[in-house]
Amino acid sequence: MRINLKHYINGEWVDSTGSEKEDVMNPATEEVMGTISMGTKEDLDRAVAAARAAYPSFSQTSKEERIEMLENIAEEYAKRKDELIDVMTDELGSPLKISEKVHYNMGYAHFSQAAKSLKDFKFEEDRGGHTVMKDSVGVSGLITPWNFPTNQTSTKIASALAAGSPVVLKPSELTPFAAIILAEIIDAAGVPKGVFNLVNGSGEVIGDGISSHPDIDLVSFTGSVGVGTKIMQNASHTIKSVSLELGGKSPLVVLDDADVEVAAKTAVNNIAMNSGQVCSAATRILVPSSMKEAFEEAVKNVLNKFPVGNPREKNFVGPLVAQKQWDRVQSYIEKGVEEGATLLAGGTGKPEGLETGYYAKPTVFTDVKNDMTIAQEEIFGPVMSIITYDTVDEAIEISNDVVYGLAGYVVGQDPDTLKKVASSIRAGRIVVNNAAPDFAAPFGGYKQSGIGREWGDHGIDEFLETKAILGFPS
Ligand code: NAP
Ligand code: MG
Repeated sequence: MRINLKHYINGEWVDSTGSEKEDVMNPATEEVMGTISMGTKEDLDRAVAAARAAYPSFSQTSKEERIEMLENIAEEYAKRKDELIDVMTDELGSPLKISEKVHYNMGYAHFSQAAKSLKDFKFEEDRGGHTVMKDSVGVSGLITPWNFPTNQTSTKIASALAAGSPVVLKPSELTPFAAIILAEIIDAAGVPKGVFNLVNGSGEVIGDGISSHPDIDLVSFTGSVGVGTKIMQNASHTIKSVSLELGGKSPLVVLDDADVEVAAKTAVNNIAMNSGQVCSAATRILVPSSMKEAFEEAVKNVLNKFPVGNPREKNFVGPLVAQKQWDRVQSYIEKGVEEGATLLAGGTGKPEGLETGYYAKPTVFTDVKNDMTIAQEEIFGPVMSIITYDTVDEAIEISNDVVYGLAGYVVGQDPDTLKKVASSIRAGRIVVNNAAPDFAAPFGGYKQSGIGREWGDHGIDEFLETKAILGFPS
């Protein structure tokens, strides 16, 4: 059992001013794995005041000092590897291998990438008649979801610290313990007091408080479109900068010259990874009509290689994060059947022998039309929709026929067609032929998938203001 009833404010672990507590569940066992304190508006005010007090000196630190700070954090982060993996498997239910190879590694990558990106970052540019300077945006409020407990927190923290902006973080109440370890890591790295603050609590109290706080200059949020809308509304009263990473309904375009096995594996991997609880997952698989049967067959075969089960054993697919998420996924599967899609694999209910834990069956629908609910709305679970197309132009049109634009994927061989599809999908990140991850590449969405970009130098830029100086003495 992990019990942490404190918040990290002004360089210290302090008691909450309130008495409300919340249990954190292990989604694989449905047992309580820990307890946190639900912060109050007073706790938030203290954290914001600490960040505000740290701002004048922190925003003036040199680039070299901040590079060293980020490198120290990465070093301390690496020391907590085993514990981070363990805690994410407990609070999120992600298989140990995924907790390590995906979650742990992504957090580390963001701190080391921010240090690297900072080395080449230009904070001042002489443009002939004037000088453009980049200046810390001020105090930043960070609100994060549960599906990538170290990735989303780390990219925001690393970028803000690289920019010289002090922060107040509110992680998801479902996965607070990875963030608590991050706070310990930042403390051990010697980050000055007030530069990083953590307040646990609910979205309704602390998240809402952050987005409406008069002393916060920027809100960086990752989560659902619904909450993103509320955050923009709140932030509008004080004209805060807003950076939003919201949902997705990303297409994978399988070209007619693609290897069908590779295409099927790519598709299944997208719904299996993190049990499909991935904002950038490809969930609409666009397949040439001529390849339909072969693709369906290949998908059925590949599914067997992604068994569902206890995340502490050797499995690829763990449970969903919570009962609420399980219910949501079930209702979408029911909706798919109701609207006339053909169930190729999976379906409602729990996989055999997995009655305890929020396990869902990896589910594949075929004969899906792009206007069906399962093709338009984000399910956030292991559910795939196969949609057929006849021409590449049609595939592009279907790809773009959603309110989202976070990511897009394409597999195939002809370079001109790959380029055409990659440049025509209106989304912030396109992955061609399973290209390896690159933490220097910007991440973020078009359309209702968000505003702004995270990761690397683009991520740092989000936490900066632009200042023009005319007549700057040289
Ligand atoms: P969510 O309900 O939007 O919650 C995200 C965060 O916002 C949590 O910390 C939540 O707090 C907080 N929150 C809730 N209500 C709030 C309010 N009124 N004001 C301010 N903050 C509030 O999303 P989720 O269920 O955690 O995550 C799933 C969603 O996030 C999906 O739609 C997914 O696509 C999206 N997502 C996007 C990305 C991306 O990078 N684009 C990455 C991951 C997830 P509590 O829950 O702790 O109360
Ligand atoms: Mg909540």
